Amino acid sequence: MTRLLVTIHDVAPPLMGAVERLWRICAARRVTPGLLVVPDWHGGSPLEQHADCVGWVRSRAAEGAEVFLHGERHDEAGSPRGFADHVRAFGRTNREGEFLTLSYAAARERIDRGLQRLRALGLNPIGFVPPAWLARPDAHQAARDAGLAFSEDDRTIYAFGARRTVASPVLRWSGRGALRAYGSLAQASLRWTLQREAPWMRVALHPGDLDHPATAASVERELDRWSAVAEPVGYARIAP
Ligand SMILES: [Zn+2]
Repeated sequence: MTRLLVTIHDVAPPLMGAVERLWRICAARRVTPGLLVVPDWHGGSPLEQHADCVGWVRSRAAEGAEVFLHGERHDEAGSPRGFADHVRAFGRTNREGEFLTLSYAAARERIDRGLQRLRALGLNPIGFVPPAWLARPDAHQAARDAGLAFSEDDRTIYAFGARRTVASPVLRWSGRGALRAYGSLAQASLRWTLQREAPWMRVALHPGDLDHPATAASVERELDRWSAVAEPVGYARIAP
């Protein structure tokens, strides 16, 4: 049976309204999503100053939600892109690839600092997911060296503890404009056709998915049909 991994990206104080709605959408389908937490969203929302948000994540973690570090600030402020970075990011993000341009040393520094901040708040991240899944291979190596069990890009999960990689193209949406929203719906149908028998299926939810009525409806529809044929599990199942 296919195993289903669902995550909510961009868990951060300014986005908690939508994050909590996504959580309820998952809970209604008996799915406990992983939570991708950003320690200081866009450099203006340090978690240390948002006890309500931290408390919410801790309560969900106590209910079984796995916690992941999702960048330090999420955006690319102050990191100039080179040509190759532009090519890698083309059409994929609105300057939200914090780790896109980072070397090993810079990535490791941010991951270490992010882990320290989350742990000081009583959270225990098991993995790292770069914002928009954009990073050089160095960043995944840095996550492994920082002692984390998992990292991922949009095609592959890296399970360091189990020394395995799992191919699993991710289903995600974009609510940014009608064209992208409807493109997301086409992608969702394709994933259903191509990946229904896959051993691991990943579904990634973003607060912005709820911004467009078409993507908001599609998120519920896809969770309905995937949770009907696949077993919702956590990443820990990849590497027990
Ligand atoms: Zn994100």
